Formats: sequence, C-alpha cells, structure tokens
Amino acid sequence: MDEKMYAYKCTVCGQLHHPKHFVCKKCGNRSFEEVPLEGEVTLLTYTKVYNLPEGYMKPYLYFGIVKFENGLTVSGQLEVDNPVIGMKLISTVGVVKEGTNNDCYGFIFKDIK
Ligand SMILES: [Zn+2]
Repeated sequence: MDEKMYAYKCTVCGQLHHPKHFVCKKCGNRSFEEVPLEGEVTLLTYTKVYNLPEGYMKPYLYFGIVKFENGLTVSGQLEVDNPVIGMKLISTVGVVKEGTNNDCYGFIFKDIK
C-alpha cells in the first residue's frame, strides 16, 4: 500500500502532532519529522453512525478513537463486526469515502487476524 498517514514529530521536544501543525503546540518550534502511523492500536471509544454523507456505500459505519503505541490518539473508521473498548486493532489506510471524484484517504482500523 502506498498511502500512509504520518504523525509530525517536533525535532526539538519530540511532541507528536496529528494532523499536521505548523508550530509545535508544546515548544513553538517549526520543524518536524514525519513518523509513519501504523501498527497496533487500542480502541478507546467508538460510535455507530447512521445517515452517512453521500458517497458512503454502507447503511452505517463505526467510527472510533484509538491510541497508537507511541501515545498519539486519532480517529478513523472501524471495520470490525463487534467493537469492544480496549480491544487491539491494526491500523491501515484506505479510501474512506467513495465519492464521484474525491476519494479520501483516512484511517481504517481492522481486527488483528
Ligand atoms: Zn516541540
């Protein structure tokens, strides 16, 4: 897979940011290095969403907030039949909105097989 999501790590203090900030929220530094966000995550919370915007091909979706091993929390789509808070998931990146001309990449969290 070519698409990846990144965290932006402050080169001075190491604070991780996602999405990208132009100024470190901790120390004010303006340079960052990209750190790929991938691997195992822990599900912190989730919601079931109906009435999706046009472009989604499903009646409902789960959206969750997860925590990476580096401590960063992000939100994304869950491809899990029965989400349980605290479960381990694997982070992937994929097309989360199947629009006519603006496919959108985002996090998709899946069961660890
Ligand atoms: Zn900083």
